[in-house]
Amino acid sequence: MNKKKKITELPQSKEGKYSSRLSDVLSLGQHESFRIADNFYRLLVESLTGYGIFTTDKKGNISSWNGGAQKLFGYTEKDIIGENASIIFRQEDINHTELQKQLKKATKKGKVSIERYHVRKDSSLFWASGLIFSLGDEDNIARGFTFIIRDLTDIMELGKRKDSFISTASHELRTPITSMKLYAQIIEQEIKKTGSGIQLESVVELNNQLNKFITLMDYLLDVAKIQKEKLELEKNFFDMDELIEEVMATIQIVSSKHLITRQGGITEKVYGDRSRIGQILANLIGNAIKYSPTSDKVIVTSGVEKNDVVVAIKDFGYGILKSEQSGIFSRFYRAKSAVLYKIEGIGLGLYVAQQIAKAHGGKITLESDEGNGSTFYIKIPRNLKTKNEKK
Ligand code: ADP
Repeated sequence: MNKKKKITELPQSKEGKYSSRLSDVLSLGQHESFRIADNFYRLLVESLTGYGIFTTDKKGNISSWNGGAQKLFGYTEKDIIGENASIIFRQEDINHTELQKQLKKATKKGKVSIERYHVRKDSSLFWASGLIFSLGDEDNIARGFTFIIRDLTDIMELGKRKDSFISTASHELRTPITSMKLYAQIIEQEIKKTGSGIQLESVVELNNQLNKFITLMDYLLDVAKIQKEKLELEKNFFDMDELIEEVMATIQIVSSKHLITRQGGITEKVYGDRSRIGQILANLIGNAIKYSPTSDKVIVTSGVEKNDVVVAIKDFGYGILKSEQSGIFSRFYRAKSAVLYKIEGIGLGLYVAQQIAKAHGGKITLESDEGNGSTFYIKIPRNLKTKNEKK
């Protein structure tokens, strides 16, 4: 009988298991396969010229340096071997023992991702992202590290240009759209007097669409301001409860299904930008209604908690998975339920709201679970130095 091995059969290791080890695949001795693997590794590292790849010992002293690293940092292999990797860190990072902290993290977790400024040989800085892998042994004791770093300056520049384009476009479009909206409102008033049916429906829809457009423009303008750190606050003492009621009333007019109710109360005035905090409230109450289409109530509670004034907005809707909760404050992030149930939105409201809260020294937090509704908390620091009792 022909006992020839089938070509498709995977090679087996000594233990009889299928293996992808070089020594088994090529039927080589361990020494030979190490040599080939080492050559392969060096070829691979050298061919990745877009990446600075280097290794260090456990103290961070550089032991190998590829062509990409030379291109990126300006040091030749001869210049740098034996130097400590802190040479590519900024002075303030050295003062904060950043390298040691990252190496410690990499040792603990196996790898750590980094995004920071690094320093070239000519002292210039560039924005870099990368990974540090720990070359540990079985007991997880680091023997050394591999750094893989790439220059993100171009991507960052592109991002800045994109942001600046969006900001200019929104700015330029805001004025003509606002006048279109004004004309559309005049037409709507006129048609209401004389016309009916399809004409009225069309102009109402036109106004709805223009409103959505204006909201989007306003969000984009806010995002641009936040990114340029130009979100200016006009701070004054104001009555939070009065503001809550104003916002609730405006939203209640257009939400016939949900009843928005009030609990609690605040006896002191709050120091902040009334209109911006009103924007946060409108966003959170609007979301509470939007993401709870099968429920019919939203509860807004205000109160004071240690050093913060807190407003809680509770709904009984879809809720948000724990794994998605940190993401929802990022730009353009939409939770799976929003997409699944086809709820309209762009994913900018919470980002802007959180940035406004942060600009006040506060924050927005939430408690939620899928299927169990959500409670969003707006926390704004109290002005404890001023005794400003409500009149
Ligand atoms: P948008 O509503 O325009 O998508 P937001 O930034 O206001 O944007 O919210 C981001 C995401 O957070 C939403 O897409 C939604 O998935 C989720 N979310 C916000 N509020 C709630 C809520 N009350 N209940 C459930 N999900 C919510």
